[in-house]
Amino acid sequence: MFAIRLAGESETKVAKHRKRRRGLCAYCGQMCEVTRDHVIPKCLFTMPLPKVMVTVPACDACHGKKSRHEDFLRDLLTMDIVGSESPVAQRLFHEKVLSSHRQGKSLVCRIAMAQARQTPIVTPAGVYVDECYVAHLDLDRVIEMFSFIVRGLYFRLRKVVLSPDCKFDVRRLGVEDAMKCWGGFEEYGYNGPYILGGGVFWCVCQYAASDDGITNWMLVFYERVYYGVVTTPPGFVSGPKGRDCGTEGNLKTLIHDGVMRDD
Ligand SMILES: [Zn+2]
Repeated sequence: MFAIRLAGESETKVAKHRKRRRGLCAYCGQMCEVTRDHVIPKCLFTMPLPKVMVTVPACDACHGKKSRHEDFLRDLLTMDIVGSESPVAQRLFHEKVLSSHRQGKSLVCRIAMAQARQTPIVTPAGVYVDECYVAHLDLDRVIEMFSFIVRGLYFRLRKVVLSPDCKFDVRRLGVEDAMKCWGGFEEYGYNGPYILGGGVFWCVCQYAASDDGITNWMLVFYERVYYGVVTTPPGFVSGPKGRDCGTEGNLKTLIHDGVMRDD
């Protein structure tokens, strides 16, 4: 049986159909009525969904906020210049994104149509690679979506809610940045990889033993789109070299624990 949303039916009404219980919201930390939320949105997968999905308890407010960004994330990843090479992403683009665009519902498509400009692509070392279409997206929306995902994964692994005041540094990593980031994971050790849907998503993470709020994540979608997320607690000041300098020392005493599985 599948729950479907009829046109015009509100999120609140849909929320009433979900199995409810009292518990801790993995995203905001409130003790209240919660339902299960898929941390990695279902819309990033083709059907049938994988048997193992990562879910956490979430309050209606957080569930509602997160679900408003989920199609945005799907469209962002499937239209990504690298992500769009994935067969799964291509299928989603043709089956979901295009029809969403035709109905005027895809924010990413609207932004791309209005703003995309041909722009030279240059590596961090200054080497010209190619030209491609580039558009500037709503960064706050991207950061909020990834902060929900990281909060959910963290809760799933550690049964602890990240501080509501935590700061999130979210970066789309090119190949060179991803290799550098991976070097840091190999040097200090990591938890994971946690894999979902045969490569639709996987991630590795590090936590600082000295402070639960300092975490470092590499999230990979469709086996080729890399995002780096670093969380820092309120008031955390990184060293003169930026975020790496601040977290590296702390990450030397890593905690290795946590098994991610659905329950
Ligand atoms: Zn909540």
